[in-house]
Order: sequence, then structure tokens, then C-alpha cells
Amino acid sequence: MSAVLRGADGTRLSVDHGLCSGTGHCQEAAPGAFRLADRRAWPAEGLDLAAADHAGLRRAADACPWYAITFTPGGNG
Ligand code: SF4
Repeated sequence: MSAVLRGADGTRLSVDHGLCSGTGHCQEAAPGAFRLADRRAWPAEGLDLAAADHAGLRRAADACPWYAITFTPGGNG
């Protein structure tokens, strides 16, 4: 099961909860973009993916030790 968020510009952020172990590295790499609940990461409430820090989200995906995060930028790259 995955937590998936889509932005108005087609940007997509997902966390695969079959892989995530709740380490919190993603929160450190992209402050404000993720929350932890039930030992899993979720896109933060109200996160506007079209306006979000895409470099930070890429860092978060790279920082995840279990490759649980998939970030696909939309129209704005
Ligand atoms: S860095 Fe990866 S394993 Fe750690 S909480 Fe974030 S998504 Fe889960």
C-alpha cells in the first residue's frame, strides 16, 4: 500500500508503505514535506506539490534507505 499525492501540475509523490520503515530521513531532507504516523512517512497535510521544493523532494527520495519514495515532477520540472 502506498500513500500518493498528486499536484495540480501533474507532480506526483508516493511513499510505498511496504518498504518504508519510518526512519525519518525524508523529513530531514525535505523539511515540512512529510509527516510520520504509524511508523510510516506520509506526504504532509496540505502539501502543494506544484509549489513545493522539488529539489528537496528529490533529496528525500535519494535519502530514503529503502527506496520507498517516488517523486515525479510535473509541468514545472
Ligand atoms: S526515509 Fe524512507 S524509510 Fe525513512 S521514513 Fe522516509 S520514506 Fe520511510
